[in-house]
This record gives sequence, structure tokens and C-alpha cells, in this order.
Amino acid sequence: MYDVTVLAYGAESDRYLGVPGEDLGGIYSAREFVWWYNGHPDCSNMAPDLKSTDTAVVLGQGNVALDVARILLRPINELETTDIAEHALTSLRESTIRKVYLVGRRGPVQAACTAKELREILGVKDLHIHIQKADLATSPADEEELKKSRIQRRVYELLSKAATSHQQHDIVGQRELHFMFFRKPDRFLPSESGDTVSRVRLEKTCLKENGASGKQVAVGTGQFEDLKCGLVLKSIGYKSVPVDGLPFDEYRGVVPNMKGRVLSWDQAGHAIVEQGLYVAGWLKRGPTGIIATNLYCAEETVASILEDFKNGLLTPASGSPKPGRRGLLQALEHKNVRFVPFSGWEKIDSKERMEGKLRNKPRKKITTWEELLPAVDG
Ligand code: NAP
Repeated sequence: MYDVTVLAYGAESDRYLGVPGEDLGGIYSAREFVWWYNGHPDCSNMAPDLKSTDTAVVLGQGNVALDVARILLRPINELETTDIAEHALTSLRESTIRKVYLVGRRGPVQAACTAKELREILGVKDLHIHIQKADLATSPADEEELKKSRIQRRVYELLSKAATSHQQHDIVGQRELHFMFFRKPDRFLPSESGDTVSRVRLEKTCLKENGASGKQVAVGTGQFEDLKCGLVLKSIGYKSVPVDGLPFDEYRGVVPNMKGRVLSWDQAGHAIVEQGLYVAGWLKRGPTGIIATNLYCAEETVASILEDFKNGLLTPASGSPKPGRRGLLQALEHKNVRFVPFSGWEKIDSKERMEGKLRNKPRKKITTWEELLPAVDG
């Protein structure tokens, strides 16, 4: 229907750890948890139990891990003025979680978060930060990494400062954030009832240089320890999902491409450019990078489209114009597919803002399909 189609639908699934016990109750992906507190209608019924435990374990130390830890640890009166979903606010108000462990398989030099986001969580009111000073010792390989990366240097400095700064810790019921380094998840152990998680078994790790990537990777030491908890959030990265018939690299979870041009392979193993089909964002590069990274990524794809257009690669062979939006609308109608146009999205947006204004918040999220779809027509 179109001369050019750009796939930019991101990454809406999760990487899997592949360790025993991963399907026990009380274990969620951080993505599901983020969708839950942000009011995504597919996760509004998730109802994580925040009342039966005082300890949550977050696996991974990227920015998403910091985001979910911050939601669990921030004072409720600060969350009340944000656009967090009402059901999450109610649940967090009753939460008994006081300790959050952020577990990384590598060290503080390799923590995947960035400085701004780290500073935000370190600045959460009345939060006691725990970092083992011994974990901050650096090897010559770490020093090399720090020399090469300003981002890693800033993160490492912030963690070192947090480990040594004087903190007030005599407040009753004070919340705690524990950074745990050099630990990788080995398995999840069930509670007595057998269906929910009660502990995470962690294997201690050390770093080894990986010749091929030049990176230091975590390897197990054969020493294990158990961490008691009632909630686990796996924050080890998102994963894109394939669309039927679309070339897809299952291992990397991306659409194979050359500067945004979608590639497939013929039977002889030669790469073929899928004419008129392009990709941008996490679906193109994998789930890394902040908004600015995606802007550069999109520019590259658009430059490829312009170049192909100038080279006459996008002109249809028959010369007849493609039907475009008109054809798409007809096809959707023919298949009886209900869709939400942009004007419908705008109606939801203004309803949410209006309801938020009455409550002194940026917006009140509509969180179920039953309420969202009528709002489109309303
Ligand atoms: P991420 O930055 O790639 O972090 C993933 C974390 O999971 C890393 O600590 C990684 O450790 C760990 N990990 C991966 N596989 C593992 C395994 N099998 N076992 C144990 N640990 C494992 O991913 P993310 O936090 O999902 O964030 C995705 C992107 O969105 C990032 O680029 C992030 O900066 C961005 N983001 C930005 C913001 C913001 O700007 N405010 C907010 C949220 C997200 P290793 O390093 O050892 O692999």
C-alpha cells in the first residue's frame, strides 16, 4: 500500500534468564511492573503483592532497574502528585517493602545505569544506601575502562561517594537500597506453599576479559548465597517481537538491517535488501540507548530512504501510485479491524489531563480497555 514502510514498534517483550524457578509467583519482568504503574491496560490487573514481604530484589543495574527501585522506595506523598496509575498508588500506599536489592553480575565500574538516573535514586528522601566498600576496588582492566568512558567514570564516582558519605540511619521504618555487585542469579526458590518465590540463589562472580569483545564478562566462582525476598523484578533488558513474515534475528531480537534497510537472506545465503522496508529504534539496534540515541538512529534510516529515493529504488515498477492511507483504511474496514486514529488518541489525552487537573496531577491515567475505547468516541 505504501512505497516506504518504516518499522518502529520498539521492544515490548522481555529477555528470559533461563534459570530454574523463573515462573514462580512474585517474579515479574521490570517491563510488566513499569507497564503496571504507568497504567498500560494489558498490565492493569497484574496486582503484584507488595504487602507480604519487606524485601524486593531487582536483577540488573540499568536505568530501568533504577526506575523500578525508585518507585518502590520513594515516599508516597511524592508519588501522589505524579501521573502514576491510581491502582499502583493504592498498592504502593499499603506496601510493606522497606529493602530493595539491586543486583549486578558485574562491578560498579560496569553498572549499566547513567549518572542522572543514579543521582535521582541516590537523592530519594530518607533512603539509606548500602554499598560494600570492598566492591569498589578496581583492577587494572577496570581502570582502563574508566579511562575510556566518561559515563562509567561518573557512575563509579557517584557510587563511591554514596558508599562513603555519612547517612542518617536512625529513622524508624527507614527504607534501604542495597547495591549488590558481582552476583548472578542461579535459581529461584519457592516458599512453603510452593508457588511463590521466597529466595533468590545468587552465584558470586569475578570478571574475566573476553578476548573477542574486549569486554570484561562475569564468570561464576562456584560460591553461592541466598537472598530472602518476596518480590523479584527482572530488569535484564527488553526484547522485540517479530511480525509474521518479517526477517528477524531471534538471537539478537532485532530486524536485520543495513543502516535501517531491512535485509533478508536468499537460499544461497546472500543478503537481499527488502525494497521499501526500513527499521528504526530498538527494533533496529536492540534495546539500548536513551531518546537522543534513537534520534540519531532515525536520522540514519531517513538518510537511507532519501538515498534510495534519489537512486530511483523506490519508484514502483508499474508506475501506478500506491493506494496509501486510503487503501489501508479500506483494508481495515474489510477485515473488520477496529483501530484508534490519532484524533482518538488526542481525545484520551485530553480526558486524562482534564481529570488530572481536578486532582492536582499532570493527568489521571485511563487504565482499562473498557474505559479507553469509549473515551475515543466520547
Ligand atoms: P540495560 O541498560 O541494557 O541494563 C541491563 C542490565 O541487565 C545490565 O545490568 C546487565 O548486566 C543486566 N543483565 C543482562 N542480562 C543479564 C543476565 N542474563 N543475568 C544477569 N544480569 C543481566 O537495559 P535496561 O535497564 O532495560 O534499559 C534499556 C535502555 O533504556 C538503556 O539504554 C537505558 O539507558 C534506557 N533507559 C533510559 C532511561 C532514562 O533515560 N531515564 C530510563 C529507562 C531506560 P551486564 O552489563 O553485565 O550485561
